[in-house]
Parts: sequence; C-alpha cells; structure tokens
Amino acid sequence: MYEYYPLLVVGGVIGLFSLCFIIAYFTIKNKKEAVGFDRNMKDGEIISRLLKYAKPYWKNFLFVGFIMLFSIAYDIISPLIVGWIEEQVKSDFELGPLFAAVAVYAGILIVSLVCTYIQAIVLQKTGQKILSKLREDLFVHIESLSHEQLNLIPVGKLVTRVTNDTNAISMMFTNILVNLVKNCFIIIGIFVAMLCLNFELTLMVLCFVPFIVLFTVVFRKFSRKAYRKVKDGTTDINTYLSENLSGIKITQIFNREERKMNEFEEKNRNLGSAKQQQIFVFGIFRPMVYMLYISSVLCLLYLGGKGYIDQTVFLGQTLTSGTIVTFYMYISKFFNPIQSLAEQFNWLQSAFASAEKIFTVFDIEPKIVDAPDAIDVDTIEGDIEFKNVWFSYVPGEWVLKDVSFHIKPKETVAFVGSTGSGKSTILSLICRNYDIQRGQILIDGIDIKKIKISSLRKHFGQMLQDVFLFSGTIRSNIVLREEGLSDEEIMKVCKYVNADSFINKFENGLDEVVQERGNNFSAGQRQLLSFARTIAHKPSVMILDEATANIDTETELLIQDSLEKMMNIGTMLIVAHRLSTIQHADNIILLSKGEIVEQGTHQELLKQKGRYYQLYMLQYNKDQVRAS
Ligand code: ATP
Ligand code: MG
Repeated sequence: MYEYYPLLVVGGVIGLFSLCFIIAYFTIKNKKEAVGFDRNMKDGEIISRLLKYAKPYWKNFLFVGFIMLFSIAYDIISPLIVGWIEEQVKSDFELGPLFAAVAVYAGILIVSLVCTYIQAIVLQKTGQKILSKLREDLFVHIESLSHEQLNLIPVGKLVTRVTNDTNAISMMFTNILVNLVKNCFIIIGIFVAMLCLNFELTLMVLCFVPFIVLFTVVFRKFSRKAYRKVKDGTTDINTYLSENLSGIKITQIFNREERKMNEFEEKNRNLGSAKQQQIFVFGIFRPMVYMLYISSVLCLLYLGGKGYIDQTVFLGQTLTSGTIVTFYMYISKFFNPIQSLAEQFNWLQSAFASAEKIFTVFDIEPKIVDAPDAIDVDTIEGDIEFKNVWFSYVPGEWVLKDVSFHIKPKETVAFVGSTGSGKSTILSLICRNYDIQRGQILIDGIDIKKIKISSLRKHFGQMLQDVFLFSGTIRSNIVLREEGLSDEEIMKVCKYVNADSFINKFENGLDEVVQERGNNFSAGQRQLLSFARTIAHKPSVMILDEATANIDTETELLIQDSLEKMMNIGTMLIVAHRLSTIQHADNIILLSKGEIVEQGTHQELLKQKGRYYQLYMLQYNKDQVRAS
C-alpha cells in the first residue's frame, strides 16, 4: 500500500481543500451573486427580516438543534458498531458482548428515529405557525394598499406571493436550514471519525471529493437556471389563469376558446419544459454522484483488501476487516450529505428569492394612510364640498379638471354626463379610494385627509357600479360590515329594497348559497342584495352609482320610495343614465370630459336649454317613440 502514499496524500490534500471550498463557495457565492433571481435586496436584509418571523420560536429551534445531535450520533457511531461486530464475529465468537453491541446499535437507532420524528413534528408545527403568520401579514398588507396600487399588480401575482412564495419560506424553516446544518455536522463528524480510524483510507475517500465538488458546482449553475424558469413559469401561469378564468364566459361567448387554449398551452408547455429541465439536471447529477460513490467503494475494496492482506501498519494503525466495513458505511454517509448540500443550497436560494418577492410586496407603502393628526368623526351631517379638485389616474391625463361643487346636508345630488366623463371617479374620491392631486375635498368642513379613513368610510354607504358578491350566503353578503345584525334587521333591510320577495322564494331564505361573484343570481338581484348591504349599516351619506340600472322600473320606484322614508340617510349622491329617475334631485351636476358644464335643478336646467335639455329631450323622445 506504501506505493500509493504520494498519490493518496496529493489527492487527500486536494480533497480537503475541495471540501472547504464547497462550503465556502456556497456561502460566499450565495451572498455575492444575488442568487441569480435578479434580486436587489441584500442577503443580510432578507435574513434579518426572516429571522423576525423565526424569533418568537427560537426555543423550538434550539430544541431541534439539541435533539439533532442524537440523530447525527447515529450516523457516526453505527458504522463503528457494525465494524466492531464484524470483527467479533470473525474472531472468538462471544455472544455476550455481541448482544450488547447489537443492543447498543438498536438503542441508538431507536433514539435517533424518535429524535428525527420529534424534530420533524416540532419543525413542521413551527414552520406552519411562521407560514400562517407570514400569509396573514401579507394579506393584511395587500388589503391596506390603495385602489391605485392594486390596479398595478395582477391578482395572479399576488396569489402566487401568498401561496407559493410563502410555502417556499416555510420549507426553509422546516427542512432546508436544519438539513444544511445537520449535513455540515455529519460531514465533519464522519471525516474526524474516519481520520481516527485509518489515515490512508481517509485520504483515499478525500480523493473523490474534488469530483463531487466539480459536479456540484456545475450542477448548481444549471439547476439555478432551471429553478428560475420554473418560478417564472408558475407566476406566469397563475396570472394568466386568474384573469382568464374570471373572463371565461366572455371567452366562450366570443368563441375564443381555441385561441385562449393555444395561449394557455404555450404557457403550460413552457412550465412543463422548465420542470423537465429541472428534473433532467437532477437526473444527471444524482447518477454521477452515485457513480463516484461506487468508484470509491471499489477503491476501498481494492486498497483496503490489499492493506488487510499485507497487514500494513501506518501511524500505529493496523487495517482490520472491521475498519473496512466501517469505511464502507462511512463512504455512503459521507457522500450523501455533500450531494444534498448542493440541492439544499438551491432550495435555500429559491426560498431567498421567494422571500425577496414577498418583502418587495411588503415594501409597497400603502399610499392612502391616516395622517398622524387624523381625527375620528362620530357623526357626519353630509356637507360635501369639492374645491378646485384636479385628479388623474395616470400622471398628466386629467380625469377631473378644476371641479368645484357644494352639497348641503340632506340634499340629493345627481351626477349625469356621458360615459367616461368622470362621474364614478368623483364618487370614489369622496370615500378617499384615491387621493387627489390638487384642490380639496371637505366633509362637514373638514379636509378628508384629516379624517381617519375607517371613520370616514363608516359613514358612507357606497354602492358601486360593478356589483361584487362574495361566495357565502345571502346573510354573509348583507352583514359584511355589521356583523351583529339580527335576522329581523336583515329582513327589514331587504324589505326596504324589495329584495325580500325573491329571498323568501328560496327554501333556505337568508342562508341561500351565493356562488362566486354571485353567479347564481340575476344582475338585478345582485344589485338588490348589494343595495341591502349598503343600507344595512345605516350610512349618513348614500352613494349610488348606477345602483338601479339592472332593476325593473316598478322595483326602482319602490326603492326610491323606501329611500325617501329612511330618515337616517342624510345626503344622497346618485349617478344615473336614466334622467327620469333623478328629476327630483335638489341639484343635478352635468359633467363633460371631467369638467362641470351645467348644474341646477331639473326645471332650471330645462329652462337653460343647454346640454341637459338636449340630453333630456333625446331620452324623452325615445321613450315617446317606444310608448307609441
Ligand atoms: P360611466 O358612465 O361609463 O360609468 P364615468 O363617468 O363613471 O363613466 P369614470 O369611471 O369616472 O367615468 O372614468 C373617467 C375616466 O377615467 C375615463 O376616461 C376612464 O378611462 C378613466 N379611468 C377610470 N378608472 C381608471 C383607472 N383605474 N385607471 C386609469 N384610468 C381610469
Ligand atoms: Mg361610472
């Protein structure tokens, strides 16, 4: 065996360096390179932000670290016991010590299994807690974003953040980090054990390390690309799905199924091929490492066998058959963690990339927030004033230009004007869904920016143009804000808006199931339910944007009648295209391209014979023609 020493020493030294290199390589490269996911956040920042979530559970992690030592002990001690048994069996066979050794082996194995089990349970529980806290925080944060900010982020992207990305982080806490630490300890532990047992064979094992390192570095390069593709593909497909499933009925109506299917197919194919690429990279890496393992076993058998036959003694160590058996077991236990280190670092990268994406969402500062000196308002009279308001959704493209008007408490004001003239925009500004660029909006003489948003919105009953019902029941949709409402109160509200007649027809009444977006109701019924929801919390100011557009004229008149009877409602703002429905308004504001062109009562505006008059006559004549 002496003739191999120079070779073994050189190989061993290179191996040792490679071993140190691979650990340093991942740690440093990981930091330096922003892990190839176009990350801008520093690793330190990501880690410290992640640690905030892990901090409350530090005791759990400490406990896991402690019991992990037992499972590591098994990996290091068990080959020694097997080697010892092998020698015992060969020499003067004595049952006593042999049983003792087997018992110790079984004992360590059981302790190790129990520890691994406890470790998995503790980590899973902790990971789930961290995950749900992270998801909750993210959801609350997304809820706090303004309409403007939400318009800019596709829903599918947000869904991916809340589901896939948070999952990747939970994986990091439950699996990756612990295994990384465990594998490092196992590598070091086995290395020391091998060194104590037989120097030459340790050198021999080390000779294979540079090859594993080489494979690992190459593997990392390819797998990183594959990971990125899979991630991008997943986000892409989620975004596409969430938009197209919402619009699937339009797709069917317009016979666009084939085209949409082709688009989806392409995205699906992209994700599929990215996944295949990932599997391919892993598929090559694992057999290659296995090939190295087999080669090292063969070398062990040859060198070990030769050393055993020659009975060489080096540094006082004689090679026994037990040592060869122990080394045989050590080799696989030594190669496995090195191989998994590479995979785990990849998972870690992926988790970091997810963490960055999540923190990027967290970093979007909600635009519409309470001013530090914002006040609570208990009651609102309903005095609303717009003072030279300028507003644009897109910088430079003014949607409202120098709009000024004053609505007094208890007044009913109607906004009319052509499509896109800015009616809905005015209504959403009153509730501060968006902030204006210039001018001032005053409620009861107070600038709305000085009123707490929750306090402001509490007093408004806002019925939007596009009705949205949540999946649940009729009851859950009506009590959206006022959770303490009794059935009698809910039914009273429904009676007001004439929704009771169709609700009573359902076997389940208020518990009738509402499917996603209220698909199982007619457009008019959806509006009635939305109406009921709006007045359920007795708002001081009612905002109705085309609230009765889908409701038959008879029901519409009944609703109007009920609204007039509702004494708590002060000011009422209405947008309606049917001018006949707003004739009794105290003030009618006619908008055109974001500017107020006329205002006054119905009679005053008719007298002016301006735009309102023309509009009214057009509709009137149309109705006459229809009637005749
Ligand atoms: P309609 O009678 O059709 O409901 P409207 O008078 O209510 O029309 P608004 O919804 O206030 O019109 O829209 C006014 C203008 O603002 C339109 O030109 C529209 O293109 C633009 N707009 C509305 N919402 C947005 C948005 N979220 N982002 C960008 N532009 C918008
Ligand atoms: Mg509108």
